[in-house]
Amino acid sequence: MRAHLKFYIDGEWVSPATVQSIDVIDPATEQVAGQVAEAASIDVDRAVAAARRAFDGWSATSRQERLDVLERIVAEYRRREGDIAEAVMLEMGAPLALAQGGQTKSGLSHLEAAITVLKDYSFEDQRGTTRIRREPIGVCGLITPWNWPMNQVACKVAPALATGCTMVLKPSEVAPFSAVIFAEILDAAGVPPGVFNLVNGGAATGAAIASHREVDMVSFTGSTRGGVAVAIAAAPTVKRVAQELGGKSPIILLPGADFPKAAAAGLKQVLNNSGQSCNAPTRMLVPAARMVEVVEIVRETIAAISVGAPATDATIGPVVSETQWRRVQQLIEAGIAEGASLVAGGPGKPDGLGTGYYVRPTVFADVTPEMTIAREEIFGPVLSILAYDDVDDAVRIANDSDYGLAAYLWSGDGDDPAAVANRLRAGRIAVNGVAGDILAPFGGYKMSGNGREWGAFGFDEFVELKAVLGG
Ligand code: NAD
Repeated sequence: MRAHLKFYIDGEWVSPATVQSIDVIDPATEQVAGQVAEAASIDVDRAVAAARRAFDGWSATSRQERLDVLERIVAEYRRREGDIAEAVMLEMGAPLALAQGGQTKSGLSHLEAAITVLKDYSFEDQRGTTRIRREPIGVCGLITPWNWPMNQVACKVAPALATGCTMVLKPSEVAPFSAVIFAEILDAAGVPPGVFNLVNGGAATGAAIASHREVDMVSFTGSTRGGVAVAIAAAPTVKRVAQELGGKSPIILLPGADFPKAAAAGLKQVLNNSGQSCNAPTRMLVPAARMVEVVEIVRETIAAISVGAPATDATIGPVVSETQWRRVQQLIEAGIAEGASLVAGGPGKPDGLGTGYYVRPTVFADVTPEMTIAREEIFGPVLSILAYDDVDDAVRIANDSDYGLAAYLWSGDGDDPAAVANRLRAGRIAVNGVAGDILAPFGGYKMSGNGREWGAFGFDEFVELKAVLGG
């Protein structure tokens, strides 16, 4: 049983003002795996005050000093990779290979990317007689979700540190263990006291950060509901709010695509991390005449997908919580009730997995754009396949969403993927299964958010622009 009942404030592990804790549930066993303390607003005040005190010193450090600190963090993170993977398996049920791979490595990648970007990032440039400065915005509140815990924490903390900001991190109360290790890493790496502070807690703690007068900006990743609440709480203090929110991303199989490859890749991408990725390609758009063919490919591919405990070599583990499990079940039921064709999976738990928040990998075909499963983010291993008439129709359906985080295109002879990409209202579009680009901007149009993370674009979130005219 893990017990993390202290917060990391001003370079020390300190006890909270009040004794309130939150149970963390292991989604594979449904048992309590540990506790974290829950920060009251007085604890948030203390953490923000420490960050405020540290700001003058940290913001005045040189590029090289901050590079040195980031290098030490990377070295320490590498040393703790095994501990992080173990924590992620326990807190969110990620299978071993995913926990050790993408879940842990993505955090490292953002730290390394921050070093690359910091080497060349322009903090000042001259335009005629005007000097443009990019100055750290100040004390930042960082609020993160549970689904890619280290990825989300690192892609905020690394650019905030690199630009000279100080910060208070509040990770998800659902999966807080890895973030505690992250704080230990920063401590061991010698990040000066007060520059990075960690408090734990849920929505109330997040709201105390968002509304705090001494917090200059909030960077939030999570649900659209949570992001809206944070923006409302932040409004009276006129702080910057960066929002990375939900998604319902389309994957369009253009007529010339390699259908077996594209459909299989799309399905696997939806199922990865038990469907709990904001940018998962959950709406597969296929030419109407090829629906039957795609359904067959998907049926064959899903037969090879195994569901099981994180410590096994199962392809996917449970979803993170009972709340999520129930929500996914409701949406699967909605798909059936609204007349979509169930190709694989369905309601209930997979055979032999009665304990744990396991979901049957599920595929619906003949989904129409107005159905609930075509509109709402499910955040479980569920794929909806929709038919389109021609490319214009595909673009129209793809854009017919409240969200606009990502899109995926598969193309071949006779297709023009660049032209289609230009017409899609989404922040990141991947063509033909191309590898990810950690230096490219990540973020959404519409209700998927405001602002961009990753690479130099992520640095821009944490700076204020100053124009010095004639001096
Ligand atoms: P969530 O909104 O419930 O919680 C996210 C974080 O916000 C947690 O730390 C939570 O404690 C805090 N929080 C919740 N309500 C709050 C409030 N009213 N005020 C202040 N803080 C509050 O989201 P989640 O369930 O942890 O994460 C899943 C969601 O995150 C999905 O919708 C997913 O699409 C989204 N997500 C988006 C991205 C992206 O980059 N766009 C990345 C990962 C996840």
